[in-house]
Formats: sequence, structure tokens, C-alpha cells
Amino acid sequence: MSTAYIGIGSNQGDARAHVRQAFEELAQLPETRLEARSGLYRSAPLDAPGQPDYVNAVAGVDTDLSAAQLLAALQDIEARHGRERPSANAPRTLDLDLLLYGEASFGSAMLTLPHPRMHLRAFVLIPLLELDPLLEVPGHGAARALAAACAGQRVTRLD
Ligand code: AMP
Repeated sequence: MSTAYIGIGSNQGDARAHVRQAFEELAQLPETRLEARSGLYRSAPLDAPGQPDYVNAVAGVDTDLSAAQLLAALQDIEARHGRERPSANAPRTLDLDLLLYGEASFGSAMLTLPHPRMHLRAFVLIPLLELDPLLEVPGHGAARALAAACAGQRVTRLD
């Protein structure tokens, strides 16, 4: 059994509904227990000026799926939400990122862990700290210190 954290984001359609639905779908994954859900946050899109704000959250799961199996399951959920990828920073109905999988630290063509940009993103770190205030990001240190370094990014709790 491994503990994994999943970043959830949406900035298209009913973004809050997409995020809430994603939690329900994560709760249905095989060999996986949804252990924790953060609150919902609103964040300004990074590197994509003029796009709608995102709604973000983080889920914590305990799973017997491998990291690769879990990533594939996340991509299935994204596909069910009708996500298209016309360009790298296009708006997203649902984006699911595998942030952390236990202490795993590696990079392959399909999967990099920890997620390669999570340590730079307040919209990931702030909800993550709700779930585990003492969390350490392998290779980067305490999530709390990483979040403090992103203080310029606008992230607001929604509920
Ligand atoms: P994105 O457009 O941000 O959803 O990126 C999806 C692509 O990133 C897919 O090709 C994944 O195989 C790859 N990827 C690599 N590492 C990760 C990760 N930790 N979580 C999610 N996708 C990842």
C-alpha cells in the first residue's frame, strides 16, 4: 500500500463541478481508498494570460496500484471529462497530476515523480499542506517552505 497525492484542476465549464466529480471518481478507483480531500481553491492561470481562473484541489489516496497504473487511471478520468489538448496551456475541463507516490523519485518518458513542477506551484502546495502540514517533497524539502517561496501567486480558498 502506498500513499499518493493527486492534484486536480479545472478552468472550463463548471470547474467546481468537475473537481467535485473528480473526487467521486477517485473514490471509485480499484485497489484504492480516497483518504483525504482538500478544500477547493481558485488560482490565476500560470503562463496563460487571459484564460479563466482555475479551481484546484488535492486528493490523498492509499493505493495498491503501481504509480504507472495510477497515472493511467487518472488519464482515463480526464478523458471521461472530455479533455482535449489543442495546445500545452489550453483551458482544461479536468487536469489530474500525480504529485507524489510514496517516497518515489524518478523520471521516465511517461511519468516523473515527484511531479516536476509541483514544488513551484502555490495552487498545489497550499491544498497539499491542508492534508499534511509536515509533508516533505522528495528532493525539494518541506512543503511549507516551498509554499512560502510561492507567496506571490494568487490562491484563494473557495469553501
Ligand atoms: P499535462 O498536459 O500536464 O496533463 O501532462 C500530461 C503528460 O505529462 C502525460 O504525457 C504524462 O505522461 C506526463 N507526466 C509525467 N509525469 C507526470 C505526473 N507526475 N503526473 C501527470 N502526468 C505526468
